[in-house]
Amino acid sequence: MNDSIDRLTKLFLKLPGIGERQARRFAYFMMTQQEGYVDSLARALIAVRAHANTCSRCLRIFEGNPGMCSICSDDHRDQTKVAVVEKSQDIESFARTDYNGVFFVLGGLIPIMQKEILQGTNAQKLIDRVATEATNESLQEIILAFPLTPNGEHTDSALRELLAPVAGAVMITSLGRGLSTGTELEYADPASLEASLKKRE
Ligand SMILES: [Zn+2]
Repeated sequence: MNDSIDRLTKLFLKLPGIGERQARRFAYFMMTQQEGYVDSLARALIAVRAHANTCSRCLRIFEGNPGMCSICSDDHRDQTKVAVVEKSQDIESFARTDYNGVFFVLGGLIPIMQKEILQGTNAQKLIDRVATEATNESLQEIILAFPLTPNGEHTDSALRELLAPVAGAVMITSLGRGLSTGTELEYADPASLEASLKKRE
């Protein structure tokens, strides 16, 4: 009887932060909406996926043509400073600060209990990029910009250990005090992020 509701509920369940009850609520909500809305939603979903690409340099997911994203190919940005963030949407928080460097998306945090620290994230790709750019002196600072959570702090220290041997004279810094404990970077207010960038150590 409820085939399409069940199917839609299962699809909504895949969304970040959505539980069974909320997923079902969304499914029922769709049944009460005008066809125009549902059609636009379906088309918007297909379009956002069709235009999504991963930047070949910073690994950010962006809307545009394959290759490098607009940040990585921007000559006006300080390409010698790289902020390493957990996820693509964290970069949007930096857009509201004075930060003028570039980025690298780690694609997750390194969990405290994980033994193989290179698994599950783009850590190896970061090491490779730093090794190359440290050698040709096109990199001066790596800013580790993770949330103040146990896994965020663990990722910070794990990356410091991994990067130290290849970074050479490149400075490795972390966001200083300013952000509240537990705050995800994507939700950080610009003033706090700005403050923690200024106080990086
Ligand atoms: Zn990029």
